[in-house]
Amino acid sequence: MRFLIFGPPGSGKGTYSSRIEDRINVEHIATGDMFREAVKKDTELGNKVKGYLDKGELVPDDLVNEVVRERLKETGMDNFILDGYPRTVEQAEFLDDIVNIDALILLDVTDEIIIERLSSRRICRECGEVFNKLFNPPEEEGVCDECDGELYQREDDKPKVIKDRIDTYENRSEPVIHYFEGKVPVVVNKCRKADASIEKMVESIIEQLKKRELVS
Ligand code: ADP
Ligand code: ZN
Repeated sequence: MRFLIFGPPGSGKGTYSSRIEDRINVEHIATGDMFREAVKKDTELGNKVKGYLDKGELVPDDLVNEVVRERLKETGMDNFILDGYPRTVEQAEFLDDIVNIDALILLDVTDEIIIERLSSRRICRECGEVFNKLFNPPEEEGVCDECDGELYQREDDKPKVIKDRIDTYENRSEPVIHYFEGKVPVVVNKCRKADASIEKMVESIIEQLKKRELVS
C-alpha cells in the first residue's frame, strides 16, 4: 500500500506514522527527517537545505522531488507512508506521475493546537523520535526513551518561525488536498485536543483504513 499522511506542522504526522509503520507493513518516509539527517551529517544535500529548514521555508520542489524519487526507488515503489511530501501542487503532480497513491490520511487540527504542540516539541538528536514536554514527555527529561540520545528543540519550532510555517502550509500545502480529492480515498482524522492520546489516534486511523479495506 502507498499512503500519504498529510496535515499542518504539529498535526502529528511523524508521531503517528512511526507507529503506523510498526502496525502495518509500510515504511515511514519523512522528507523533514531526511533533510535534518543530511544537515546533521553535513552532506552536500544538508548544505543546500539547511537555510530553508531553519527559516521554516519550503525546500525548492526540484530538489525535494529528486530526493523522494531516489528514496522511493529503494522501496520498490510500494509499501510506504509518505510524511511531509508532497507539500506543493507541483510536488503532487510529480509524485502522481511516478507512482499511484492508494489513500491520503488527513490530520485535521486547529491552529491553537499546532502552536501549543510545536512550542513544547522536543526531538531526539540521534534517532529523530518526537516527544512533547507537555503531552508526550520522555521518561527522563531531555533524554530519548528509544536510544538515550539528547533531546533538542528544532530551530523552526521557535515561536517566530511557527507562524510562518502555518502560513506556508495554508498557502502552499492545503491545495494538495484538493489535488488528491476525488482521485484517491481521503481518510480524515479530526483532533480537537492538544493532548489527544497518541494510541487512540493511531487506532482510529488504522480502524478507518480497515473499514475502507485499505489494510487487512
Ligand atoms: P513539519 O511538518 O513539522 O513542519 P517536517 O519535519 O515535515 O516538519 O519538515 C521540516 C522542514 O523541512 C520544512 O519546514 C521544510 O523546510 C523542509 N521540507 C520537508 N518536506 C518538504 C517538502 N516536501 N517540500 C519542501 N520542503 C520540505
Ligand atoms: Zn533517540
